[in-house]
Amino acid sequence: LLTARGLHKSFGATEVLRGFDLTLHRGEVVVLIGPSGSGKTTVLRALNGLETPDAGTIAMSGGPEIDFAPEVRPKPRVAKQQRLALRDRSAMVFQHHNLFPHLTVLENPDLLLFDEPTSALDPELVGEVLLVIKELADEGWTMAVVTHELSFAREAADHVLFLDGGVVVEQGPPAQLFSAPQHERTQRFLTRIL
Ligand code: ATP
Repeated sequence: LLTARGLHKSFGATEVLRGFDLTLHRGEVVVLIGPSGSGKTTVLRALNGLETPDAGTIAMSGGPEIDFAPEVRPKPRVAKQQRLALRDRSAMVFQHHNLFPHLTVLENPDLLLFDEPTSALDPELVGEVLLVIKELADEGWTMAVVTHELSFAREAADHVLFLDGGVVVEQGPPAQLFSAPQHERTQRFLTRIL
C-alpha cells in the first residue's frame, strides 16, 4: 500500500529524519516506538502530506512515486497537489486530540495514522480507545501507530519499528523485537520503558 524510502528532513540545523524507510502492506499494522525526538511524529506527518521531506520518496499503490529530492522537486503548485494527494489517502489522529475524533477518520478508506492516540486521555479511557483501534486493525485497516503502549503493540502490531535519531535502528514482529532485541540501543530503550 505504501513505500517510503530514504526520507530526510531537517528543521534548521536539526536533522530529524536521516534516511527513514517503511513498507506497509494493505491490512498491515505497524507500530513505531522510540525516544522523544527520534522523528516518529515527523514520519507520520510526511506520510500524511503535512510535512515535505528534504529527500526521499513516498509512493502509495495506484499513485505516483513522489520524489522529494531537491533536483527533481516540482513547482510549488504541483508539490502542493502531491501533498494533498497523500492526505486524501490517509487520515491522521493527532497526539493532542483529547477524544477519539468521532471516527470521522474512517471517511478516508486507505491508511490510518495514529500519533500517540492515548497520550492525552483520561487513564480510564485508554483501554477503551486502544480496543477500538485494535478492532479497526482486526477489520483489516492498514495503520501506522506511534505509541508507548507496548501491550497494544504486542497484540495489534504485525511489525514494530524502533526509531532513534531519525532512522530505523531495528524492526521485527513484536514478539521478536520485545523479547529478543538485537541492537544495544533497542535493549536500552525497552529496559527503560518496560
Ligand atoms: P515525541 O515522542 O516527543 O513526540 P518524536 O519522535 O515524535 O518525539 P518528532 O516530533 O518527529 O519526534 O520531532 C523530532 C525533532 O524535530 C524534535 O527535536 C522536534 O523538536 C523537532 N521538530 C519537529 N517539528 C518541528 C518544526 N516544525 N520545527 C522545528 N523543529 C521541529
